[in-house]
Amino acid sequence: MRDCVFCRIARGEAPASIVYQDERVVAFRDLNPKAPVHVLVIPREHYTSIMELPEEGRLLECLLLAIKEVARATGVQGGFRSVVNCGARGGQTVGHLHFHVLGGRFMRWPPG
Ligand code: 5GP
Ligand code: ZN
Repeated sequence: MRDCVFCRIARGEAPASIVYQDERVVAFRDLNPKAPVHVLVIPREHYTSIMELPEEGRLLECLLLAIKEVARATGVQGGFRSVVNCGARGGQTVGHLHFHVLGGRFMRWPPG
């Protein structure tokens, strides 16, 4: 997707503070962090939301394993939250599938 900001970050065309990357996944710091650690984990390939996530190809596994790497790399492996917002009613504002990784403070529940 030419105009998708997260695709541009994944291609290295837009600046981002990258904390982890591999063949299929890129993780970078959120521009407007909601916690001391706030990282977004995205597939390099464009999927609009989790509803488009393919059932085959183990992409979900790659994303979840990347979350673990991000937690370690940012020092929050002892406690963090990962969430996916899906669609406008779910609070999604960027139309490229991403997992939030939030940590470095106590996480309240429910998130609202
Ligand atoms: P959503 O609301 O879609 O679940 O989350 C989108 C997140 O992307 C927000 O937390 C927002 O701060 C972050 N964000 C939006 N544009 C950019 C950007 O260009 N760079 C980075 N690093 N984060 C962004
Ligand atoms: Zn995209």
